[in-house]
Amino acid sequence: MIQRIGLIGDPVAHSRSPAMQNAALMHLGIPARYELWHTPADELPARIAMLRTSECLGANVTLPHKTAVLPLLDDLEQIAARIGAVNTIYKRADGTLVGTNTDAPALLTTLREDGQFEPGGQRVVLLGASGAARAAAYALVAAHVERLVVVNRTLERAEALLADVTLSQLDPHDYQETAPLPQLIALALDDPDVPAYLADSMLLINATAVGWQADTTPLPTLTVAPGMLVYDMVYRPTRLLREAAAQGARTLDGLGMLLHQGALAFTHWTGRPAPLAVMRRALQTA
Ligand code: NAP
Repeated sequence: MIQRIGLIGDPVAHSRSPAMQNAALMHLGIPARYELWHTPADELPARIAMLRTSECLGANVTLPHKTAVLPLLDDLEQIAARIGAVNTIYKRADGTLVGTNTDAPALLTTLREDGQFEPGGQRVVLLGASGAARAAAYALVAAHVERLVVVNRTLERAEALLADVTLSQLDPHDYQETAPLPQLIALALDDPDVPAYLADSMLLINATAVGWQADTTPLPTLTVAPGMLVYDMVYRPTRLLREAAAQGARTLDGLGMLLHQGALAFTHWTGRPAPLAVMRRALQTA
């Protein structure tokens, strides 16, 4: 039997995950295929019920279901419960459906690997306060940044994010608890203090949904600190990255994070180490 894995979301047609995951499955000779499962909100319960059939190994979850899916699952890994978002569902041997979040560890891996940047002890500005930003904030606090400034169009969402993602919420099995809580600051996108915090930070991350169109940027006025790394979760060259590079910053797009979140998910579904080089090549040519 060919087993099935899928991306649950609406829309899903743009996704590069099938190219990456099918290349990995084929490379390892695993009899399964990764599909796009377009799922409007009212069809989400039926989709999760389908996952329970023996032909399905698991799924990725994307917009707009990353939070809505939580109550439909049997169990949540602590990281997904604390972030409040699931991007990967896998099955235990007894058929239990478990939700986890591989975006958070993937961000740290790609910063350390592709960006050669250690966030520990650094001052960081994070743009956005939705699912991807929540995962990033969790990861950055876990990595013991010195200061995290969350900047969002809607200030209340930035404040709510910081209220949730604190060091006391972290899993003591995964992270040391001895480090002091970072300084946590929430600002609105148009706050006059944003440029000063940017000028005094070594990492800027865009985790808003802005940047997919070539001429859009989440930050109309960009200030780049000397030596800053500007990281955009959008996995294409963006206006933000172009403007940052023009000011002398190092830049990195979201392809590495996409790769590493997919690699972690692959291992959850198959129990096998992900063939990273094969997956990276498939993503780059997709
Ligand atoms: P989302 O829920 O749609 O993100 C919404 C966020 O974007 C909110 O903070 C929202 O601010 C902000 N926003 C939307 N329109 C805006 C505008 N016109 N001006 C300023 N801010 C605006 O999406 P998500 O799931 O969190 O993902 C965010 C981004 O990360 C997406 O581009 C996604 O593709 C990317 N991502 C990449 C990876 C990867 O592996 N590379 C993984 C996950 C996500 P308000 O709160 O004010 O509405």
